[in-house]
Amino acid sequence: MIYHIPLHSIIGSLQNSPGEADSKKDTICLNMHQWTVQGGTTPQQCASDKEVNFSLGQPSPRLLPIEAIAEAASRSLDPNGSDRLILQYGAAQGRFSTRESVSVFLSKRHQIAVDPSHLMISTGNSAALGLLCSALRRTHATAFIEDPSYLHAPNILKSHGIQAIRIPVDQEGLCLDTLEHLLCTNQSAPAFLYCIPTYHNPTGRTLSSSRRKRLLELATEHEFPIIADEPYNLLHFGPNAIPPLASEPNADWVISLGTFSKILGPGLRLGWIHASPRWIRLLVKHGELVSGGGLNPVVGTIVQQTIDSGFLDSHIDCIRKTLVHRSKILHQSLANTFWIGIPQSIDANTLLKAAKPLRVQFTPGSRCGPSSDNHTFMRLSFSFYEPEELVEGAERLVTALHTLLD
Ligand code: PMP
Repeated sequence: MIYHIPLHSIIGSLQNSPGEADSKKDTICLNMHQWTVQGGTTPQQCASDKEVNFSLGQPSPRLLPIEAIAEAASRSLDPNGSDRLILQYGAAQGRFSTRESVSVFLSKRHQIAVDPSHLMISTGNSAALGLLCSALRRTHATAFIEDPSYLHAPNILKSHGIQAIRIPVDQEGLCLDTLEHLLCTNQSAPAFLYCIPTYHNPTGRTLSSSRRKRLLELATEHEFPIIADEPYNLLHFGPNAIPPLASEPNADWVISLGTFSKILGPGLRLGWIHASPRWIRLLVKHGELVSGGGLNPVVGTIVQQTIDSGFLDSHIDCIRKTLVHRSKILHQSLANTFWIGIPQSIDANTLLKAAKPLRVQFTPGSRCGPSSDNHTFMRLSFSFYEPEELVEGAERLVTALHTLLD
């Protein structure tokens, strides 16, 4: 019998490589001498020598744009020319000039008009989700979340005492029939729905346009906010970026989260919240912002500099090319090697156990959601490693699989 392994998710979050896609750098890349390694205390961070850890959905350390960030920092923190008040407590919504630059950046990249008054500076999507959990929780201690979903999202909800109610995802994205059924049978609306409408983590799927429209109708009808976690929209492989859900017509109930983690560097801890002013007003009244002011204003000013100088635009274009290349390499290696008989009874966790001695790891689908269907899936990120390392990792996965089949 012939089966194929249900690799439903090949997620690459980013790659930061100014110029990597040009032919010179590509050659360097294809003849790499050193394995990509990274120290770290958690499996999320750690990449050992000669190991391929496909769980790592982060930029390769050698490609983080440290030179450009250093230059932007020295320009924005020039003691002779910069505004000293950058170091002061700032406006809760974020500095106006930073929001204005982000609005110009988003408007251009998405071909839509984004008003700076609809933006708030955040410290990235994880923290923004936490802030929203605490602002929206009120009496509702439940939230709807996709199954499967971003593996760390349920923990953020849990940290705020919010119980996750799962809704399945199919080929077109979030299953609205299940959502509708839950909305009609539940006593009250949830605190919010958390979803990843574009390039979903881990499935890679994008919510269809008819479902987007219906989802927004349901939110309006049943009065529940939608937190749209959208870290990957600007890393589109096709010619046009899919605009944030908050920019759709009738998106009054949508709060879109964007981040610089995947397009500049996760260590910056900077992102933006894009929503209608009612949600921004709610957030700026949050006690933590009233006390501490706007989030991360110094880094906001540095990132603003990378936008104003045009660096970020060119950098994103390079990252996109690099990611397209890496995804093709991994896809080809897997298509060439994995298109073999695999009994569906093999659980991804069993494969992971067999893979570990071969120094290859991945995220088993069961970590992304409770549905038993997730057990036969694995999530493979392709952003961290060089093409040769991806090929090597794919080969080791095949070897691991053979140890189970033989
Ligand atoms: N949401 C999703 C869906 C992600 O994939 C990630 C990163 N892997 C994050 C949030 C984390 O975003 P940030 O770095 O901005 O906290």
